[in-house]
Amino acid sequence: MPVTLHGVGISRGYAIGKTILLQRDQLEIPEYTISSVLIEEEVQRFLHGVAIAKQQLREIRSRIPLSVPADVAAFIDTHLLMLEDSTLASAPIKLIRTRSCNAEWALKLQRDWVVQVFNEMEDPYLRTRRDDVDHVVQRIQRILLANEGGTADAISSRLEGRILVAEELTPADTVLMQHQGVLAFVTEHGGPLSHTAILARSLGIPAVMGVHCARRYLDEDELAIVDGQLGVLMVGLDEQAIKYYRWKQQEDQHQQLELVKLKEQPTVTRDAVRITLHANIELPEDAAAVCQVGAAGVGLYRTEFLFMNRKDIPDEEEHLTSYLHVLKMLDGKPITIRTVDLGADKGLGENRVGSSNPALGLRAIRLCLKNLALFRPQLRAILRASAFGPVRMMIPMLSNIQELLQVLRLTQETKQELRLRGQRFDERMPIGAMIEVPAAAICAPFFARHLDFLSIGTNDLIQYTLAIDRTDDEVNYLYDPLHPAVLQLIAMTIQAGQKANIPVSMCGEMAGDPRYVRLLLGLGLTHFSMHPNSLLEVKRVIRESHLLELMTLVKRILHTEDPKKFNQQVQNLTRL
Ligand code: PEP
Ligand code: MG
Repeated sequence: MPVTLHGVGISRGYAIGKTILLQRDQLEIPEYTISSVLIEEEVQRFLHGVAIAKQQLREIRSRIPLSVPADVAAFIDTHLLMLEDSTLASAPIKLIRTRSCNAEWALKLQRDWVVQVFNEMEDPYLRTRRDDVDHVVQRIQRILLANEGGTADAISSRLEGRILVAEELTPADTVLMQHQGVLAFVTEHGGPLSHTAILARSLGIPAVMGVHCARRYLDEDELAIVDGQLGVLMVGLDEQAIKYYRWKQQEDQHQQLELVKLKEQPTVTRDAVRITLHANIELPEDAAAVCQVGAAGVGLYRTEFLFMNRKDIPDEEEHLTSYLHVLKMLDGKPITIRTVDLGADKGLGENRVGSSNPALGLRAIRLCLKNLALFRPQLRAILRASAFGPVRMMIPMLSNIQELLQVLRLTQETKQELRLRGQRFDERMPIGAMIEVPAAAICAPFFARHLDFLSIGTNDLIQYTLAIDRTDDEVNYLYDPLHPAVLQLIAMTIQAGQKANIPVSMCGEMAGDPRYVRLLLGLGLTHFSMHPNSLLEVKRVIRESHLLELMTLVKRILHTEDPKKFNQQVQNLTRL
């Protein structure tokens, strides 16, 4: 009997192969006290566990092919750094010595403390980083318990040509799997913002996440199909369906080859309207991928990555060095530096407790305006970078005009400071804002009067409009970019930009999804920014589109009140 299991498609592509189920039992952590004479021996046992974990990760890192983007290795480096960091590597030793805990128990106590700190963080992206802590801790625990079963390492020899189904996977597992020739993976937990998801996209492995209880419904060695586009895993299919997916696979491969040819082609619609395609980056090293796909510039540089895995905050020179690196790589193309989008207690040593709803708390520009010691060095560095090439500054999470005016005043003060220091900057450096809170979309005309550009952050705009935590896989199914309220807010923002005669871009995930391109063009969007991997496919859809026709269609959709007709028309427009 055919069975289809639904999750969230986080990395596109199709796979047909036999399943392999990873049964990773919940680890039983023993808790006992160590007699005083054996304490140092227990410390040595813990240190040995950490050393083996490091060795394993280094080995995995060395298997990453040189051809994959820098962010892939960076994920493994994050775990290696955690093993160097005293929070996980030496704090348990203190617990063993002071509380006579056994090594596993000490590590568990420390893990619980770190996870609590992460849980209180405001930014959804960094909150998901507690998964990294768990992945590292579990690796050490398995070594200490001599329980290597249930890891991707343990079944690595059987992965080739298989579809891996697991409760969850670590970034290290993902690299290993790709190396072993896994066809696709499906996990019961996790969402599109996790490191594992980002890695799967970078490595081009079809993947579906958040398929709850998948292993309960599947058998080992069962012929299955993964459709990373639809976010489903199917079993029990007949010959006809398998044939259809084999054809889709071939089509997909053929399309990938065709896409590369588009790199040098202009991004214009069939009716000759030029569209701008920018790329999103997280690390300075990602600039190479931007050039590889021929993006016209960087539309979103997420600078919070500079703040990760450290206790201090980056100073002005460090910010500047990163920005100049990207500018140099882009060789004259514009870069849009987003001021840091962190929560209150990330890497700043201020463990703010009591924020019951972190996504609505002190994050992004709210935090920067409260913590000028954090913000001013970045402002100075962005301005100074503007002397060396086309730099634009972008403010995240604005929700009211006072915040905007405050940022503009601070920027003026910073310019004066630089003049006094005799340091150069571009007097006319464009300043823009992200529209990612419904209030900002509704008030976009007021914001637009003070700004040089707007950029729609759909990841947050959807979260805040529909009241859905973007990191919570229980409510993933409600996360709907095509909700009429979301489309109205996007339309309002684009119109506000047009009236004020300033460009409006979109840099949320929606802009990089080929299914939504025609709809967005019809809404009047002319600037898109996305992960470099999506750029050529988006370009293809744009080159096949007729803007005027789409605008007429979308106008009709926005005026359709009947939900059935609305859905029908939207579906027609978003079908690839
Ligand atoms: C967004 O919210 O759409 C966005 C691009 O910002 P981030 O995903 O970094 O929150
Ligand atoms: Mg955002």
